[in-house]
Amino acid sequence: MHQAGEGLLRPEQTRVMVVANQKGGVGKTTTTVNLAASLALHGARVLVVDLDPQGNASTALGIDHHSEVPSIYDVLVENKPLSEVVQPVPDVEGLFCAPATIDLAGAEIELVSLVARESRLQRALEAYDQPLDYILVDCPPSLGLLTVNALVAGAEVLIPIQCEYYALEGLGQLLRNVDLVRGHLNRDLHISTILLTMYDGRTRLASQVAEEVRSHFGNEVLRTNIPRSVRISEAPSYGQTVLTYDPGSSGSLSYLEAAREIALRDPFAQQEQQSMAEGM
Ligand code: ATP
Ligand code: MG
Repeated sequence: MHQAGEGLLRPEQTRVMVVANQKGGVGKTTTTVNLAASLALHGARVLVVDLDPQGNASTALGIDHHSEVPSIYDVLVENKPLSEVVQPVPDVEGLFCAPATIDLAGAEIELVSLVARESRLQRALEAYDQPLDYILVDCPPSLGLLTVNALVAGAEVLIPIQCEYYALEGLGQLLRNVDLVRGHLNRDLHISTILLTMYDGRTRLASQVAEEVRSHFGNEVLRTNIPRSVRISEAPSYGQTVLTYDPGSSGSLSYLEAAREIALRDPFAQQEQQSMAEGM
């Protein structure tokens, strides 16, 4: 078991963070699992909800998700309690996962005819009675009903942005969807966190994109960037996060640091924590 690190302050209420960007391959899943593991190693209790039929987050956390495994599909479509699908993540204390199986590919269509189709994840999370500090929801690369369910269930949106050309293209659509969901279904919803991923400090392009993102979003952008790192991309093939696969690597350290920044931005206790951060 990897023990908790120095222990970060835990949020006053469960923070539900929706990791979304309809662009594919920008680092949503990598960010979800590695941030979740980092927060758990910092001493928090964390649940990863895999909301992508590809099931990449489940794979990366070493969670079995063949088609017979009880999964988030059963929760969303069959009303199975979340507690019956959540599994502890091997190797990381305090980390749990609600896996996705390929069944979830059908949910996008099946949800359409169900009552409260946009709020089924929200209801499932509300009914879950285990104490949690963070719930991180890994969204698929689309803005369909699965992503809408995530946006209704959480207050915070975390957008990973890959530092490459066209990084901001398509983001407008996500931002409009966030506005729509805030207007009609979840007034607490806001973009709380932007994380720059696959950052290669040697290229001018990366720093230009970073600058553009920072001028666009300002305070929401974490100071920590996630570097492009082979160790990060290798870890999932061992069913591990980079935090257990190579704890001392730059990728691992950067996710730990990003997790620390996020913990210090607890919206429920912003002021209290700021004064403590100043004392660190
Ligand atoms: P999808 O939209 O398909 O769900 P995604 O947004 O979840 O994709 P990931 O699967 O996290 O993106 O990452 C895409 C690819 O980039 C993966 O092969 C992953 O291993 C790799 N990758 C992600 N972050 C890094 C990084 N910091 N350094 C190197 N490779 C990375
Ligand atoms: Mg993914």
